[in-house]
Amino acid sequence: MIQASAYLNAQLRDLQVESEYERRLRVLVEHCRRNLPSVDEERIRRAFQVAYWAHRDDRRASGELYIAHPLEVALIAARDIRFDDTCVVAALLHDTVEDTDMSLELIEAEFGPEVALITDGVTKIDHVFSSRALGRAENVRKLMISMASDIRVILVKFADRLHNMRTLGALAPERRLKKATETLDLFAPLAHRFGLHEVKTELEDLSLKHIEPDAYKAIADGLNSKRRQRERFIEKFIEPIRNDLKEAGFEFEIYGRPKSLFSIYRKMKRQEKGLDEIYDLFAIRVLLHSEGKKGREDCWRVYSILTDLYQPLPERFRDFISVPKSNGYQSLHTTVIGPQGKPVEIQIRTAEMHEIAERGVAAHWKYKEGAGPSGDGAPPASANGRDARIDAMYAWVRDLLENPRPDDAGEFVREFQLNLYDEEIYVFTPQGDLMTLPRGATPVDFAFQIHTEVGFHCIGAKVNAKMVPLSYTLQSGDQVEILTSKKQTPNPDWMKFVVTHKARSRIRHWINEKRRKAVEAGRETLERKMRRAKIEIDEQLINRVSSRLKFPSSQQLFYEVGAGLYDADEFIRFIQRGAEPPPSEADDSPARLEVERYAEGKSFAADAQEHGRTALVIDGERHTDLAVQYAVCCNPIPGDEVFGYVSKTGAIKIHRVSCRNAPHLLLDHAERIIPVEWSRQKDVQFVAALRLVGEDRVGMVSDITTVISKNLKTNIRSITVESEDGLFEGTIVLFVSDLKQLRRIMQRLSRLEGIYGVYRFEE
Ligand code: MN
Repeated sequence: MIQASAYLNAQLRDLQVESEYERRLRVLVEHCRRNLPSVDEERIRRAFQVAYWAHRDDRRASGELYIAHPLEVALIAARDIRFDDTCVVAALLHDTVEDTDMSLELIEAEFGPEVALITDGVTKIDHVFSSRALGRAENVRKLMISMASDIRVILVKFADRLHNMRTLGALAPERRLKKATETLDLFAPLAHRFGLHEVKTELEDLSLKHIEPDAYKAIADGLNSKRRQRERFIEKFIEPIRNDLKEAGFEFEIYGRPKSLFSIYRKMKRQEKGLDEIYDLFAIRVLLHSEGKKGREDCWRVYSILTDLYQPLPERFRDFISVPKSNGYQSLHTTVIGPQGKPVEIQIRTAEMHEIAERGVAAHWKYKEGAGPSGDGAPPASANGRDARIDAMYAWVRDLLENPRPDDAGEFVREFQLNLYDEEIYVFTPQGDLMTLPRGATPVDFAFQIHTEVGFHCIGAKVNAKMVPLSYTLQSGDQVEILTSKKQTPNPDWMKFVVTHKARSRIRHWINEKRRKAVEAGRETLERKMRRAKIEIDEQLINRVSSRLKFPSSQQLFYEVGAGLYDADEFIRFIQRGAEPPPSEADDSPARLEVERYAEGKSFAADAQEHGRTALVIDGERHTDLAVQYAVCCNPIPGDEVFGYVSKTGAIKIHRVSCRNAPHLLLDHAERIIPVEWSRQKDVQFVAALRLVGEDRVGMVSDITTVISKNLKTNIRSITVESEDGLFEGTIVLFVSDLKQLRRIMQRLSRLEGIYGVYRFEE
């Protein structure tokens, strides 16, 4: 320690600091004094000198001395973020370890372990982002791991990123774009989650400026040109409110505040509207100078006075005071009809709420129980000192980290952002406990939020004592009760409506497991059938054939076979049809030859001539001289590949080539086989059987029958349903005129909510 100090003292003895930077340091210290709970000025001065010395040979892209950057970052920490002076010291030193011959050990010896930890964390984040090898998802993870150690790592990183964004113009275009995109992707949503509203807004606006310069300029110019008009409108709107609030004896400020360029841009994009069509380009804010319980009551009194003056739009009212957002935000929001019938948004809050709204987590320690805004509560300098709100932030970070990472990086980032940006709703457990969920959340999200096991086994939900579908969109204020069954398992269809990261990741994990098992089973089935058909098992052959059969991959082929969606025999036949190399060993058993002949689609007439038989044209009706029956083992319908089998009684039985009895008949009774083909006649109905597997949900049977009978004008002969383990299995026997119609029905059925699979059933 003494050695380190001695070394630095020696280095700093002759340090010449340019007067301009001395001046900037004084400004920094001034901001620290004004904004921070306690300030060790000597420590800040020392950190400045060390940084000045360490960066003495470096310059920024703009050409000025490098020290300008850490100084500005420290200024942002002191002026905008206002957490504590350790942040300021760390901000001054944040680039020294990375760029100069300062070491982490030296920083620790001189400034203590906390500053060293923060500096190290910020440096590691820089590595994460400069590495090209890592995907975005991995970046997010690393970022969160680093900030899980000390929240100040991310606060200093925000300050660093903000200054870099402010000075982005000095960089080459492609680096500019990369930084801006990264900022919009990750840093702005994170700043939002930490309640750093000001930082978030500036990061977004600066990103937009570089990513969409034309749009940015158009909005900025548009806002500017209408400024006078807007200000007159606001003044006229505010005047009566100001008078009434004064009369009621409030201490307050009221002002109009333009919305950020980025939020306007986003609204224009989302609503596909021009700037002129966006009505809320600004919001009115009432800031009350009263505290605590009285402050909250005053907000409501102000609301009441406001709505006496202007007509409110009840559906736009939001009470974030009784139920704060998860980042701590509190306010009353309302929209009223202003002059000229224009809707105007008003936010009502106390100064205390305002500070948290603008600076979020960084402000929050100040308003801990018992310490008012002027109180001198100690900053949460270490892990033991943080309050409940900060603990909640850590819990959130931990949850994202502990959840299994989805395979797809883009998906991870998307979910991450979804959870950050979307508005929140507030619902209650039957015990009255409050739960915060993103807008659009469903009972399944709620169930997973309670516990993964509850999510896995939920079979139904009651909202406000009424049964609702699991896909129901929860509303703020709903009381939600989850019904579970041990037999229930997650339904892949839930992915279509769940919105929380937790639910999505757990369900996806479960599906992946199930899929993996189906792939394994499918591969086994296929290989067994290939062996039986004496086709050499060859990965390349499988790949080639599955792509010819329009499977996106052989994995998908295995999966569909394993899940019963695709018949492996079709695959085998395709190979045997000669589209691919023939079986490795010559197989000339009679059955094989017969099957091949029919499968080849040879003209039946030619075939008949060759074999001296009569090709039979069947149309579903009884022939005058021959009794034709359709085999009940496979229920052939027009369009199926079929053959005729002359039974001992003289009747001709029509079987599908894929019938499980076909090999036996063709092999052992080749002399009784006659080729047949379908006539084109359409008005005859055939029996076909389908098996359906799906979620055992309310209304499933009626949905199925509706699809078949109403939409497709098809008659059902019978339908049997079984359900077990929350799984629905149905067998339907119906009348169709041909294969085309059957396929259409199968397609429609497979699109029903909760259906996992529909397949042709042989018996
Ligand atoms: Mn930096």
